[in-house]
Amino acid sequence: MTLARFQMCIDGQWVDALSGKTFHSLNPALGEAWAELPDADEADVERAVQAAQRAFEAPAWRGLSATARGKLLRRLGDLIGARKEELAQLESRDNGKLIRETRGQVGYLPEFFHYTAGLADKLEGGTLPLDKPDMFAYTVHEPIGVVAGIIPWNSPLYLTAIKLAPALAAGNTIVLKPSEHASATILELARLALEAGFPAGVVNVVTGYGPSTGAALTRHPLVRKIAFTGGAATARHVVRSSAENFAKLSLELGGKSPNIIFADADLESAVNGAVAGIYAASGQSCVAGSRLLVQDAVYDEFVARLIERARRIRIGNPQDDASEMGPMATEQQLAIVERMVAQAQSEGATLLMGGRRPALDGNGWYYEPTLLACARHDLTIMQEEVFGPVAAVIRFKDEAEALAMANDSQFGLAAGIWTRDLGRAHRLARDVRSGIIWVNTYRAVSAMAPIGGFKNSGYGRESGIDSVLAYTELKTVWINLSPAPMPDPFVMR
Ligand code: NAP
Repeated sequence: MTLARFQMCIDGQWVDALSGKTFHSLNPALGEAWAELPDADEADVERAVQAAQRAFEAPAWRGLSATARGKLLRRLGDLIGARKEELAQLESRDNGKLIRETRGQVGYLPEFFHYTAGLADKLEGGTLPLDKPDMFAYTVHEPIGVVAGIIPWNSPLYLTAIKLAPALAAGNTIVLKPSEHASATILELARLALEAGFPAGVVNVVTGYGPSTGAALTRHPLVRKIAFTGGAATARHVVRSSAENFAKLSLELGGKSPNIIFADADLESAVNGAVAGIYAASGQSCVAGSRLLVQDAVYDEFVARLIERARRIRIGNPQDDASEMGPMATEQQLAIVERMVAQAQSEGATLLMGGRRPALDGNGWYYEPTLLACARHDLTIMQEEVFGPVAAVIRFKDEAEALAMANDSQFGLAAGIWTRDLGRAHRLARDVRSGIIWVNTYRAVSAMAPIGGFKNSGYGRESGIDSVLAYTELKTVWINLSPAPMPDPFVMR
């Protein structure tokens, strides 16, 4: 098969790595290489960051009004809308995500860019009601500088958009480092940014491996903010890199999110919510509802209905419209899933469904929807993220026990609560320590709704009205109104 060839976008130019080195991206549905991309090293990262710094200082970008930046973002949203089918197909091929899901995500991106475009010229500072009558002071939001965006493979376009759009709305420039497993659509996004009219150097993309390309980018002294989405182990490297220059950081990390089903819930909806939470996207979702906490009275019925529904899931080629579950994005991820399911059983969990690769033609990295019953909440499968279609289910007696289990986690990204009791829904929404709470729904996202986690799920929030502020520095300006000469210089004013 002939490989598709991609180049990187640096300073508005399409370039190979200076070393000439390349790597392959694999199609997870086939388990074979489909594209060749530049393997950027330190020298390429240097070029990209320098270009971003020059663009940050140049009048072509710095001199644009916030309204003009918003218009560029709006145009970028329109261009994405015009090319949405192509982008959806490309992402599905590159990371094995279902075409129906990539269509949904890409289809929403124009809305996301339009929403953020509207925020660009609403970054108002304030005048300060000072306690000093001869002084006037005000605050201004200014861009930070060069931003590094580090993107994982599971939803590359969406997770890039929620960094890129606010960073540009605020007037920053950016160097993106997509995952080596899913770079193609991010390069296309950079092409559309140039077409939309963003000046050269404002949006750059370097492709390559995390420990080389990613590390070189995050430790670069000109990078003033790092927006990272990925796993905790990588995040620790990134935090250490940021310490060199005290770059600002946002970390969107993993989760072990509880989906809590009470006996009074609409069970059909709860079963669908459980499927949406853990089997959609083959469980490769940061907000996966991977812990199912089910009240005693409905436990048996819920589990039976979940198994019945999950057994009907159509596993197959992600580019087929009829498929409901595609492959794992990487062979390593499949191996991790297999190892964790085996470990769960060795620790005492009971396999109720799945636990193996489905019998399908070809070499794709597929895994069956899997359910493990746990008698104890301290099993590894209840505590560690799998990032695959594996749910661990456990019973609880009452609300207090459900809450204790929900919060017994190093993570705090999301939680689902299924109940018809309004008071209980609000109590748990208040008491569960997670950044996102879904009541009688799961995996809902919106440009207007912040995403981010408590505890080891990271810090900072993306999306929503404040997301642009996270890409600004706040400056305070003091004006002396007094005509009198400056008083005693040795006393603080
Ligand atoms: P990952 O291995 O941590 O990789 C994330 C990104 O970091 C990739 O671009 C990776 O590049 C890069 N990277 C790796 N080592 C690096 C280093 N030393 N310095 C700088 N960058 C480096 O995560 P993943 O496996 O791609 O994604 C899965 C994780 O992301 C899960 O834990 C999931 O929960 C989390 N996630 C969180 C959210 C959220 O919004 N909270 C959303 C989606 C995913 P390479 O891939 O090329 O190595």
